[in-house]
Amino acid sequence: MILEIGTEDLVEYSFSVILVITIFGLLFGSFISMLVYRLPLGISLFNPKRSSCPNCKYTIKWYENIPILSYIFLKGKCANCKDKISIIYPIIEFTTVTITLLLFINIGLNIEFLTITLLFYTLITLSFIDFKYKAVPDYLLILALIIASFSANFDFQSALMFAGGFVILELFITYYIQNIKAKILKDDSLKDQVSLGEGDIPIVAIIGGVLGIKLALIGIMLSAFLAIIPAILNSFIKKDIETPFIPYLSLALLLVYLNQELIINSLTGQYSI
Ligand SMILES: [Zn+2]
Repeated sequence: MILEIGTEDLVEYSFSVILVITIFGLLFGSFISMLVYRLPLGISLFNPKRSSCPNCKYTIKWYENIPILSYIFLKGKCANCKDKISIIYPIIEFTTVTITLLLFINIGLNIEFLTITLLFYTLITLSFIDFKYKAVPDYLLILALIIASFSANFDFQSALMFAGGFVILELFITYYIQNIKAKILKDDSLKDQVSLGEGDIPIVAIIGGVLGIKLALIGIMLSAFLAIIPAILNSFIKKDIETPFIPYLSLALLLVYLNQELIINSLTGQYSI
């Protein structure tokens, strides 16, 4: 019977699979936005079961909780008290579904897709918590590292090398800020500043392990490049030296992961179509 499947059937099959993957991505996006809201505040994931408005405690009905769409229909306001709902939640849902589809197109439907998607779901959660609080729960970092280690080509040696390299880099930059920059700027507050967050180290290890040495180097350079403008804006406008780095590391990992063949081919000078 398989032989009788024509091109039209294949197109239909792909469409229905893409629809299922999209719904899967949206549902997880909604779950991740709940994690980003609840985990840092220490609210249980199971109690209350249904989300409520942080302002008036109104229990949000299921049809007011449809990922992305409900935000648009409710014009970003609570259905009961009309208080503004943060745009961060539909952004998380959109990010999650987009990444899910990109990974599906890139990997196909297999165990590796599930592992890498689960890894990126954890990284999305970490990134948005990092944006909001500039600190992330350790157990999420450990979870991300464990999930990553199950990916097909995880390179433990490269993971350890990158984590170690990053610790040394952090020591140097922190020494520079606390002892040299603090003296030059005569700013005692810099004496307690650290350069890079400890939370960045497990993410760097994940990049090293998932991408392997060569691609991970490109990933780390790309993340620094992606973070440079927000970092400059932060330190000059807000006088804040701490830029959340996990979102840029995660984005760089995604970009390099999705384009690994292209990057390897350009590095070796063998362009293939
Ligand atoms: Zn409300």
